[in-house]
Amino acid sequence: MQFRDLHRQYEAMKAEMDEALLKAVSSTAFIMGAPVQELEQQLADYVGVKHCISCANGTDALRLALMAMDIKPGDAVFVPDFTFFASAEVVSMQGATPVFVDVNFDDFNISVADLETKYRHICNHTDLHPAAVIAVDLFGQPADFDKVRPFCQAHSLLLVEDGAQGFGGAIRDRKACSFGDIGTTSFFPAKPLGCYGDGGAVFTDNDDWAALIKSFRIHGKGTDKYDNVRIGLNSRLDTLQAAVLQVKLRHFDDELAAVNHAASMYTSLLSDRVTTPVVGDGRLSSWAQYTIQLPDRDALQARLKSEGIPSMVYYPRTMSSQTAFASLSQSPCPQASALSRTVLSLPMHPYITDSEIEIIASKI
Ligand SMILES: *Cc1c(COP(=O)(O)O)cnc(C)c1O
Repeated sequence: MQFRDLHRQYEAMKAEMDEALLKAVSSTAFIMGAPVQELEQQLADYVGVKHCISCANGTDALRLALMAMDIKPGDAVFVPDFTFFASAEVVSMQGATPVFVDVNFDDFNISVADLETKYRHICNHTDLHPAAVIAVDLFGQPADFDKVRPFCQAHSLLLVEDGAQGFGGAIRDRKACSFGDIGTTSFFPAKPLGCYGDGGAVFTDNDDWAALIKSFRIHGKGTDKYDNVRIGLNSRLDTLQAAVLQVKLRHFDDELAAVNHAASMYTSLLSDRVTTPVVGDGRLSSWAQYTIQLPDRDALQARLKSEGIPSMVYYPRTMSSQTAFASLSQSPCPQASALSRTVLSLPMHPYITDSEIEIIASKI
């Protein structure tokens, strides 16, 4: 059994995929070929924002967002303590200071109550300028943007939605990656919409930021490629990856339905044994992970492994306990710390079968 079975996915779309890949290869337009612009338009339409700018990976997507927002030394950027390292890493790459905020037990996402506490602390006890919030759609469920957005508006904080795991999720009729002033995603193979290597994208309604990000992703180019008007990155999405994503996007809504079916089956079989994930009212998860909580997590993981069932711990360390951030002075995030000891993610992907879920549940 695979944790995320990419082989089954390829088999399910093999004919279309092989054709698209061959077409992209034979075009030899490997960089910024036609599929890149086509995909950007399709993704912008899917998410419901004006601009999609593709780039080399989800970390660069976040970095491009912070570059466009001019996040700089002296700025405080609020980041959940329970996330993948990149969400916070990009803040330090800008020379700004990440401030870690606790998360909720039920949806694993940023706690607005603790955001308020950490914001006051920064205002009252430091010289830092509170500049932005990076809210993460952890494990596929959008953060509670009904509360996060008004908080940011009230305190003039810019809002970035890190939708690396959230692409495809929604709150009521609005899609993930549309909730921030800028939204970002990753096309790393194991993400809800993954390519065959690295890839990422930035989403925004803001014309000026979109133009800036298009420049930043190609060495700060001006009107001409050899006219460089600012310092940027080399961060483009390959034509081949765009071609892969165009095929996968056609199947994406079916896959979304399949993972939601798998999640509800897991929950009905497991909810009386372990703490199962909760999806908030009006919210849709893209189930990047199906994550349970239990006190003797390590014992269960070992037991599942002996039965040939893979599972993963996302994440065993909080941001504030990472060695790379050891020099930052941080106030505690007890719920995030507790989660790092109790979470276990189970096999989850659109091609998992009902009988596989039954087997996994019976072992648990
Ligand atoms: C994967 C991930 C990223 C980074 O994406 P890459 O494409 O691997 O660079 C950022 N944030 C979160 C929450 C992620 O899960």
